[in-house]
Amino acid sequence: MTHDLIEKSKKHLWLPFTQMKDYDLDPLIIESGNGIKVKDINGKEYFDGFSSVWLNVHGHRKKELDQAIKDQLEKIAHSTLLGMTNVPATKLAEKLVEISPDNLTRVFFSDSGAEAMEIALKMAFQYWKNVGKSQKQKFVSMQDGYHGDTIGAVSVGAVELFHRVYGPLMFESFKAPIPYVYRSKSEDSKQCRDECLQKLEELLKVHHEEIAALTIESMVQGAAGMIVMPSGFLAGVRALCTKYDVLMIVDEVATGFGRTGKMFACEHENVQPDLMAAGKGITGGYLPIAVTFTTEQIYEAFYDDYEKLKTFFHGHSYTGNQLGCAVALENLRLFETDEIVQTVENKSEELKEILSDLHSLTHVGDIRQLGFMCGIELVQDKLTKTPFLFKKRIGYKVSLKMRELGMLTRPLGNVIVFMPPLVSTKDELETMVNIMKEAIEVVCQEEEAVFVHDI
Ligand SMILES: *Cc1c(COP(=O)(O)O)cnc(C)c1O
Repeated sequence: MTHDLIEKSKKHLWLPFTQMKDYDLDPLIIESGNGIKVKDINGKEYFDGFSSVWLNVHGHRKKELDQAIKDQLEKIAHSTLLGMTNVPATKLAEKLVEISPDNLTRVFFSDSGAEAMEIALKMAFQYWKNVGKSQKQKFVSMQDGYHGDTIGAVSVGAVELFHRVYGPLMFESFKAPIPYVYRSKSEDSKQCRDECLQKLEELLKVHHEEIAALTIESMVQGAAGMIVMPSGFLAGVRALCTKYDVLMIVDEVATGFGRTGKMFACEHENVQPDLMAAGKGITGGYLPIAVTFTTEQIYEAFYDDYEKLKTFFHGHSYTGNQLGCAVALENLRLFETDEIVQTVENKSEELKEILSDLHSLTHVGDIRQLGFMCGIELVQDKLTKTPFLFKKRIGYKVSLKMRELGMLTRPLGNVIVFMPPLVSTKDELETMVNIMKEAIEVVCQEEEAVFVHDI
């Protein structure tokens, strides 16, 4: 039976972000989950060390969330949001506006983070047309930014490895540098920040009249390798957007819903974006709901007689899905009763201390963390910061070793990702970090043996 399923998976599936040749060597099929662990079809258990790709909040099979879906099923599973609404989507809209930055008063639902970003891009573009400034058509995006995998989101993304192939399909966007302190010359975070802000200002000064909006991840560039922005950077970007009349689109898909120790990461800098995309944690990791927030000012630019053609012509079949909205509402209720955001903020310090243990390892170059969003950058040589060669696949090997030791996560190149569910206890965090430590040690030692051999 088990064997049969594995054969079927190899025969018919094509998995996202996966070289299927790798999958065929190490297939894994998850059957169930409980708390912060998942179990495969052979009964082996794993810590969900990356929250099932950065989603999970309260653990798996959370009683209240399961119940919210069952209760909603007794009423209806889905009806459309085109031209009408439904009960949970309406209640969820009110709740989301309540917990988001004050200037954001409108929400537009979709089904994934990439879509939420596409929607923000199209809204920004059409906003300027609707207010009679149609020369503002271009975007500024951040170096190494990631906003999802649809063509618009890829166009404002810049992760070389994922995006290079699709170059000819993309619309062009201006690229602004991002402060990557660990790999900057001076390693001085203020200097690094100010240089980047200065370059952004030079760009905006020349081009602002043709720029509709700027896109930026909030506080942490996730897919780029968990690169945490120095304090003052996001606020600095906000100030420049305001000064040059460019809309600011903040991507909170990874960072939103408590992940960094604030409900939304832009609160770290008191930033109020013009548009904000969120997803991932919104349903506690249960169902695909995403959301684009915007201001009353932008909303009003689309509000007119139908013949004026200012309508936002965009929508998806499953948008506003009742089961998803119902579980999102229950998720947000649990955020309050269980004080999730406060707990993550408090536990961040503990986690920082637990992680600092990894500094003693020969190949750990940098440990980056904001809340429960962490990346450990492995390097060939700590002193010179020389990276491991791409073909060594060091991150991948470490992740496979962790899997053997009972924990799941996916690397970003040479960066080991640690994104535990937000309810993880101190003990669980320690156990997971110990697994990481052992895996890094074992794999790097094996690599060193090979390395010496090479010479
Ligand atoms: C995951 C992610 C996305 C894309 O979300 P999907 O739901 O996978 O489409 C966009 N932006 C950021 C910052 C993300 O981490």
